[in-house]
Amino acid sequence: MNRFAEFLRRQIDIDLELLRWAREDMEAGTTARCGGSVFRGFRECELKTRLLRLHQHCGAGNGPCDELGQTYPPEDERGCTTRALLGLPYSDRPGYRARWRP
Ligand SMILES: [Zn+2]
Repeated sequence: MNRFAEFLRRQIDIDLELLRWAREDMEAGTTARCGGSVFRGFRECELKTRLLRLHQHCGAGNGPCDELGQTYPPEDERGCTTRALLGLPYSDRPGYRARWRP
């Protein structure tokens, strides 16, 4: 697994942890936060996880984007445009590298 994929998985895990805390606060009645945004956050994390899994081998020769000839060179950790775009929401977080921008 490369650094970019590790970074993405770690950010999704952080989001999930924050969402779990928000859900616990909501269930305990200690916050007025809207439940809809918490549940949408969980669905967005599932979407990102599924897309990352689907494109995990792109750029290594056996991903769906390899078959289409739409991958980055092997030395580029992003693999494909889909993976690069998945990192965009996290571009302000520590550890994100400027060269990962799509
Ligand atoms: Zn791909």
